[in-house]
Amino acid sequence: MILLMLGAQGTGKGTVAGILSQKTGWPQISTGDIFRKNISEKTELGIEANKYIAAGNLVPDEITVPMVKARLQEADAKEGAILDGFPRTIAQAEKLDEILAESNRKVDLVINLTTPRDEIITRILNRRVCSNQDCKATYNLTMHPSKVEGICDKCGAKLVQREDDSNRESIERRLAIYDEKTKPLVDYYSAKGIVTNQEVSERINRLGKDVAEDVYKMIV
Ligand code: ADP
Ligand code: ZN
Repeated sequence: MILLMLGAQGTGKGTVAGILSQKTGWPQISTGDIFRKNISEKTELGIEANKYIAAGNLVPDEITVPMVKARLQEADAKEGAILDGFPRTIAQAEKLDEILAESNRKVDLVINLTTPRDEIITRILNRRVCSNQDCKATYNLTMHPSKVEGICDKCGAKLVQREDDSNRESIERRLAIYDEKTKPLVDYYSAKGIVTNQEVSERINRLGKDVAEDVYKMIV
C-alpha cells in the first residue's frame, strides 16, 4: 500500500510517517531526509541539491524524480511505502502516478495534515533534529523535548536546528511555496477520493501520535 503525507511544513508529517512506518514495516521515504543525508556526506547529488535547499527553494525535478523512482524500486518498498515530502507539485504527482503504474501500483491513501498557521511557525522555530543522519529523530523544545537538553534520546547524538528552520525568512518562503505549489495536491487527490484530512493542533490537544493511531486503524 502506498501512503502519502501532505500538509505544510511543521504539521508533523515526519512524526506521523515515522510512527506508521514502525507499525506497518513499510519504509518512510522522505525526500528532505535523503537530501540532508547526501548533503552531510557531500555526495554530488547533495552538493547540487543544497544550492536550492539552503535558499528554501525546491530542488529541480530532474534531480528529485529519479531519486524517488530509484528508492521506490528498492526491495523494502515492495509491500508498501510512506511518502513524506514527495510529491510537492502537480507535475511531481503526475510523475509519481506514472512511476507507480509501471509496477501496477497507485497511491492508496493521502493523509493531509492541517494546523493553524500561527502554531506552525512556532513549531518550526522550536523544532530540533538529531544530527545523526541515520537516526534523524525530531524533537520540539516545548511540546516534545529530549530528556537531556540538546541530546537525542534514541542515539545520544547532538540535537541541532536545521539551517532552513533557523530564520523566519526561510520559513515564510517555504510556507509560501507550499501554498502555491503543494496545496493544489489536496484537490488533485480529493478528486480521486483518497484523501483523509487530519487536524494536528495543540488547541484541540491532537498531536502527530494521535493522528498516526487513527490512520493506522483505517489501513488495517
Ligand atoms: P520542509 O518540508 O520543512 O521544507 P523537507 O525536509 O521536506 O522540509 O525538505 C527540505 C528541503 O528539501 C525543501 O525545502 C526542498 O528544498 C527540498 N525538497 C524536499 N522534497 C522535495 C521535493 N519533493 N521536490 C523538490 N524539493 C524538495
Ligand atoms: Zn538520534
